[in-house]
Amino acid sequence: EAIRVSDMAKQMGLKAQEIIKILFSMGMMTTINQSIDQDTATLVATEFGYEVEQVGFLEEGFTQTLEEDKLEDLAPRPPVVTIMGHVDHGKTSLLDAIRETNVTKGEAGGITQHIGAYHVETSRGIITFLDTPGHEAFTAMRARGAQVTDLVILVVAADDGVMEQTKEAVNHAKAANVPIVVAVNKIDKEDANPDRVIRELSEMGLLAEAWGGDTIFANVSAKQRIGLDELLEMVLLQAEVLDLKANPGKRARGHIVEARLDKGRGPVATVLIQEGSLHEGDVFVCGLYQGKVRAMLDDKGQKIKEAGPSYPVEVQGFDGLAESGDEFVVVADEKIARRIASARQTKEREKTLAKASKVTLDSFLASKAAGETKVLNLVIKTDVQGSAEAVSESLLKLSTDEVRVQIVHSGAGAITESDVMLAAASSAIVIGFNVRPMAKVKEIAESESVEIRFYDIIYNLVNDIRDAMTGMLSPII
Ligand code: GDP
Repeated sequence: EAIRVSDMAKQMGLKAQEIIKILFSMGMMTTINQSIDQDTATLVATEFGYEVEQVGFLEEGFTQTLEEDKLEDLAPRPPVVTIMGHVDHGKTSLLDAIRETNVTKGEAGGITQHIGAYHVETSRGIITFLDTPGHEAFTAMRARGAQVTDLVILVVAADDGVMEQTKEAVNHAKAANVPIVVAVNKIDKEDANPDRVIRELSEMGLLAEAWGGDTIFANVSAKQRIGLDELLEMVLLQAEVLDLKANPGKRARGHIVEARLDKGRGPVATVLIQEGSLHEGDVFVCGLYQGKVRAMLDDKGQKIKEAGPSYPVEVQGFDGLAESGDEFVVVADEKIARRIASARQTKEREKTLAKASKVTLDSFLASKAAGETKVLNLVIKTDVQGSAEAVSESLLKLSTDEVRVQIVHSGAGAITESDVMLAAASSAIVIGFNVRPMAKVKEIAESESVEIRFYDIIYNLVNDIRDAMTGMLSPII
């Protein structure tokens, strides 16, 4: 029996890179999509603190992921959407407006619960919204390895146009490869200028259809409830292109979007199910914890017994407080769940592997294998916009056939928490040019193992990066 590295990683709650690293230290070069045999898998499991007798666990636990989903088992699933945009452009208003205008239909007196996500039913289909707007939350989740968003609605106020955080949002969505639908908000205002939004976003590579591109723009007013149905229709149209499917017929797997300690009910968490179906009584592992689904509530506060892909449900029955971004996996039985959770807790105490897996300029150098094209991801913050462009341009010019420089985000202003999280999620290095981070941001960078390098002379910056890149070039054979 062979097991794919990616499946093994999923099953053990590890990053595939961690397994690849262990295999490498055992003299095996593998990629995430390659398979390894049972004996090797057992060895790797041992490395991560699983006992050899737990081969049984491996076999049992893997039976499900071993099989690829059969085509006929896949069913369409609703898109999961995050709303992003500049502060005060109307993200919260839009989320509320969409929820309120859609919830009252059909559901007699349904009281909405804030569980971190909700779904709306439209005549064209269902859409799931994550309740925490903004690219910070989006990227924080991604930094934890949780990619749950299929699609981003970028809110831009028509009277204000593209602002700093609009640009950040675009770059965060792009870094995650998530398509964007633009909601031009506040069109009710007298000084609304939707054309300006189209023009400004075109400069960021988001071309409207009228301009020969494929970005969808919808004019809305969250306040006056104008254009909301059209917006949702556009979102579903865009989602159709993505052809989102999942197998609802297996054990559930998903991610935590929100977790809290409830006075009466103990630790509860909202799980966004991504594949399979979750049932009352299912046994699961989640981050460092495990549990059994004692009860499930949907976003209307209704008790439900089963939930399928793309549905957010509030789950009760955790033995500890999970964190948003934690992976949630249903397993065969409680014995397995306890073993995995305790192995993870042991590992968490050691923690060293995860830290070492983040990029520094030096480790990036060492990690390059011969013949492979590497991408050096950078987040660049500078004192003024002009130097952001100059720095980016100089660094992009350093790209060669073997090492490509990619600017994940660049902008003017202090280095923020969201810059650091973006770097963590994209395995990027942060470059500060004439700027410094605040103490808190420095702390976060440390705990996320993100390298921040400071420069005030462009010559030194370019030289450092070039040196690192030249060092990386594989020797000519
Ligand atoms: P957020 O910071 O992006 O979440 O923005 P909010 O949703 O809090 O909205 C910021 C302000 O803009 C609030 O005072 C809203 O009432 C107002 N606002 C939001 N949408 C609209 C709109 O469509 N038209 C008008 N005129 N005002 C809006």
